[in-house]
Amino acid sequence: IAGLDMESGAIQRRETRAVRVGDVLIGGNNPVVVQSMINEDTLDIDGAVKSIREMHEAGCEIVRVTCVSMAHAHAIGFIKHKLRDEYQDVPLVADVHHNGLKIALEVAKHVDKVRINPGLYVFEKPDVKRTEYSKEEFESAKNKLRETLKPLIISLRDQDKALRIGVNHGSLSERMLFTYGDTPRGMVESALECIRVCEELKFGNIVVSMKASKVLVMLAAYRMLAKRMEAEGMQYPLHLGVTEAGDGEYGRIKSTLGIGTLLAEGLGDTIRVSLTEAPVKEIPVCYSILQGLGLRRTMVEYVACPSCGRTLFNLESVLHEVREATKHMPGLSIAVMGCIVNGPGEMADADYGYVGKKPGHISLYRGRTEIRTVAEERGVEELVKLLQEDGVWVEAP
Ligand code: SF4
Repeated sequence: IAGLDMESGAIQRRETRAVRVGDVLIGGNNPVVVQSMINEDTLDIDGAVKSIREMHEAGCEIVRVTCVSMAHAHAIGFIKHKLRDEYQDVPLVADVHHNGLKIALEVAKHVDKVRINPGLYVFEKPDVKRTEYSKEEFESAKNKLRETLKPLIISLRDQDKALRIGVNHGSLSERMLFTYGDTPRGMVESALECIRVCEELKFGNIVVSMKASKVLVMLAAYRMLAKRMEAEGMQYPLHLGVTEAGDGEYGRIKSTLGIGTLLAEGLGDTIRVSLTEAPVKEIPVCYSILQGLGLRRTMVEYVACPSCGRTLFNLESVLHEVREATKHMPGLSIAVMGCIVNGPGEMADADYGYVGKKPGHISLYRGRTEIRTVAEERGVEELVKLLQEDGVWVEAP
């Protein structure tokens, strides 16, 4: 059962099948995958290659590119070749919108995954005078979507590539809006409809997303989808994101609320933080969310008290010094605590501790065992020495 295990405090992830995107696997027992999207013009092949490479080197494991025309689809073919020749084969996703069948079929030859938005894939021109959507009209529009999707699904299936069914709250089709309103339910029905078409064609390399800019809408949509998929025995991985989250601190907090909440409930197999900033800045936020939830350990975990009247040294600057000296050793956890009153007990099982002992002196801990007391000015140097003695120290690259 997916969710937070109350006994162990560990996250039990929802069971899904693994979907391959290039050399990366989404879902199954694989780590939650970090992905993002470049904002270069895809037609600028050199610029796009540079951006993709930059993102990949920063830790972005799957990179998405926009594909709005046939020229873009061809350009992505060149981008993929150039990456292979000059760097490496980065898993690429093409984002196809509006009446994109021909474009999607072309780009599917070059990328590892195609993303479509079911609300836009078959464009239904909104009829402003419409006051109802009859059952017959609904069925006929649904059939049109099915027929339009079929060639793409067959192509992806035959090439063993993947599809993201990327539903967005702000772009549901007209008939979904009429039938279910602008609601999480409308988003879920839209996704399920596409999934069923894939299943009819025996295609299962599907990842599904339910993005919204409102955190609560996004949470409701993903939860409802997970329930409905469970009821129907569907085990497709989920791609999580809060779309149009904005920038700065608030954009990061909104993204963390949406993505982090669902991950803690065991939902989500790949994440994208959408910021109105350089895309490369999204990557550390993704890794911090995953690290904070214990889903991936890609950096050193620092535990530090907030400081108070008992603090025996300048916590902020010491934490900074400790981080600068040790941040290149992912997997390790180090606590920096201002005093011994609460310090040792509250180090959250850190591997090592740096704790204020008495004015001018700090104690170093290995786990919960006090190892030695040293003068504060030699604290960081002595911590490094302890790590060396224990054989865990590695030189910074
Ligand atoms: Fe204050 Fe000590 Fe707790 Fe830090 S560990 S907040 S210094 S009591």
